Amino acid sequence: MFSKELIAPCGMDCNVCSGYLALTHDLKKKGIRMSYCAGCRPRDKQCAFLKKQCEHLRKHSVNFCSECPKFPCQNLSSIDARYQKLFRMSLLENLGSITTDGMEKFLRAEEEKWRCPSCGGTICCHNGLCFVCDTSRLKKKKHLYRWDDE
Ligand SMILES: [Zn+2]
Repeated sequence: MFSKELIAPCGMDCNVCSGYLALTHDLKKKGIRMSYCAGCRPRDKQCAFLKKQCEHLRKHSVNFCSECPKFPCQNLSSIDARYQKLFRMSLLENLGSITTDGMEKFLRAEEEKWRCPSCGGTICCHNGLCFVCDTSRLKKKKHLYRWDDE
């Protein structure tokens, strides 16, 4: 079950992030070197993309970027474009769904979208692989944070 605590303020779904999946599947033990992360919101980290530039996020005056008077700001729009191009996810679309349909419906749709057809686990948005079924592919993969190597 996807957790709402793992939906970052920007709309990123950390449930499908490589850092979160690497941590929960302990990939280092399987010989795959990927960095671990417990999720943006649980860590309350300095978001490399947004937080440095955004007072609202630093001060926690918004829970989601969609609540911001400047939404969608230029920084968020740039990351969104990057995520759409490389990682098959739109942060703005995610935030839109949460606003329109509510968090629970969004989470169930995300579980559906990213479900591994083989094991029912989770496909990673950063490379399109399942961290249960595709560990041998991950080991050989040149670009761990891209869907396609070729
Ligand atoms: Zn799988």
